[in-house]
Amino acid sequence: MKQKNKEISKLKAEIEKHNRLYYSENSPEISDYDYDLLKKKLENLLAGDEDLFGKTYMEIGYTPSNNFAKIEHKIPMLSLDNAFDENDVMEFEKKIRKFLGHDEDLFYTAELKIDGLSFCAIYKNGILDKVSTRGDGKIGEDITKNAITIDNFPQKLDNPPEFLEIRGEIYLSRSNFEKLIQTQIENGEKPFANSRNAASGSLRVLDSQITKNRNLSYFAYNIAQISDDFAIQSQSESLELLKKLGFRVNDVFLGKAKIDECLKFYDEINKKRYEIDYDIDGIVYKVDEFILQNRLGNTSKSPRWAIAHKFAGNYAISQILSITNQVGRLGNITPVANLTPINIGGVVVSRATLHNYDEIARLGVSDGDLVKVTRAGDVVPRVVEVIEKKSDKITQIPQNCPCCNSVLVKDEDLVAIKCENPSCDEQIIQKIIHFASKDALNIEGLGKKQIERFYDLKIITDLPSIFRLFEKKETILSLDRTGEKSFSNMINSIDKAKNTSLAKFFYSLSIRHIGETVSEILAKYFQNINNFLNQITNHKEMYEKLKNVDGIGEKMVIELCNFIKIESNVEMIKKLCEILNIADYIEKNSTKYSGMKIVFTGTLTKMTRQEAKNTALKLGFEVSSAVSKNTNFLVAGMDCGSKLKDAQNLGVKILSEDDWLEMTKMQ
Ligand SMILES: [Zn+2]
Repeated sequence: MKQKNKEISKLKAEIEKHNRLYYSENSPEISDYDYDLLKKKLENLLAGDEDLFGKTYMEIGYTPSNNFAKIEHKIPMLSLDNAFDENDVMEFEKKIRKFLGHDEDLFYTAELKIDGLSFCAIYKNGILDKVSTRGDGKIGEDITKNAITIDNFPQKLDNPPEFLEIRGEIYLSRSNFEKLIQTQIENGEKPFANSRNAASGSLRVLDSQITKNRNLSYFAYNIAQISDDFAIQSQSESLELLKKLGFRVNDVFLGKAKIDECLKFYDEINKKRYEIDYDIDGIVYKVDEFILQNRLGNTSKSPRWAIAHKFAGNYAISQILSITNQVGRLGNITPVANLTPINIGGVVVSRATLHNYDEIARLGVSDGDLVKVTRAGDVVPRVVEVIEKKSDKITQIPQNCPCCNSVLVKDEDLVAIKCENPSCDEQIIQKIIHFASKDALNIEGLGKKQIERFYDLKIITDLPSIFRLFEKKETILSLDRTGEKSFSNMINSIDKAKNTSLAKFFYSLSIRHIGETVSEILAKYFQNINNFLNQITNHKEMYEKLKNVDGIGEKMVIELCNFIKIESNVEMIKKLCEILNIADYIEKNSTKYSGMKIVFTGTLTKMTRQEAKNTALKLGFEVSSAVSKNTNFLVAGMDCGSKLKDAQNLGVKILSEDDWLEMTKMQ
């Protein structure tokens, strides 16, 4: 018994530590899978004696932050029980049968468990009232003003119930997560450990602009409460209704499936989960019928009618062969572990990032150690833990740039160390690679390998020299592997890339802190390249003016000004401007229908009303429900009522369904 108590205390302390890292500091040290296993181990040890040991370890979430108003969940947001293998799932069904005394087939929905942040949203008469986080399950944080910056998060519902409370998950797509941590690394900040921490760190902030810039997404998956004017009988009906009301609902799910079909679905998704652009950590099975759900009810911490079938953690153990240092385009030094090649989730990994030297010190990692490496999607694999120390050697922080040997500099408030030599070859190569990359000028035929090679051969020396490649035809054709055809393809794609936008141009220059979002704001501010060129030598004025532009922080303005203070940079910009066709700024969402008001009436035969409205919104229309003298168009389907008459009286332009289709087709 004494031994058991000791073990319980130890496990509890460990779980509490990971709770803190996970919820309050957004920087977990172990995978969720391992965390859930720890919890399961503790529960097994306690075996019903929970009360003897207090319940703190079972807390569902985190204490709501005082930075936000608190919102009480009238219906608690419970967590789900976990199943780690098929036996656990079969056990789950067995318990349900026993509880219900049920011998017939049971039907479930099987839905992807998105790895994000759960939220709750309340609508009154179709108008969004409040959005909150889960918090500790009973009290959440009011995040309404941040949530409404998320794309397609409805603030007003069509044909709504009087009252509606929904649940869902806010998440960051893997591609956006990758971009975000790339920027954080380049800026010398500590990157988020995973997409869920990034989603949480982007949503639970005081500045809504930050939330907006992070491009979060969401899925709605549950109706917690709905007024009696709407009757739904099952989870699969709820999903349909949510979709009809205009919420984003994940189309990938099984409705009314038997348990063996659920398990098959689990296997299918598990195999291709790396192809999906958001992180999922398992499949949730829910008893479909509400009548049965109600009979089953909840335990103190989770519903009896649902279980999360978890995927095994996507990590592997490997040995570090050496630690080398990479130079980034902004001079930041990133330590990289070269590993004995290892298969993680179907992909062979031979290098993993260590982020920075603070991270190396935290992990206590050095050459030869056995380490745990994780990989998720396209995100760079990273070392998360030392499994076995092989030596007591300490990894030394480099003093000189591995490329140009300049003395490295450490920013006082940042963790990164960097090479500040503007002629550092590696930085120049990385800048050229960035310039040609998909998100910048998108020169398809000019990849990383070619750029490195051409730079070595001095065929490309700086950004403008890319556009003189056609002069080097002889030299390039004389290189092995390059044929006439691929040469002309490359020249064509370089030519094509000359047409670019002002925002992409700013972004392509590799100026510290000037990422895609800030580039967009700069483009909006300057409107065209000439306005920028006219101010380029007057840094003081530019600094004063830009400082007050919404969305641009002071450090960004300082970096931009530092960049154009250097004469060679100005020369380069001018050269590029002569070569490129940089389009003037166009308001992103402005179309020829922007701000026009449109009303739909009658029955549409070729599309649903919702579909038609979505198309209208996409085109920039404002959709209203009543005709007024400000209405620009009325789309009249079959069996129109008074709206058609009103429109005729007011002289509003009337479109048939076919006219509308014709009009949208042209867009
Ligand atoms: Zn260097």
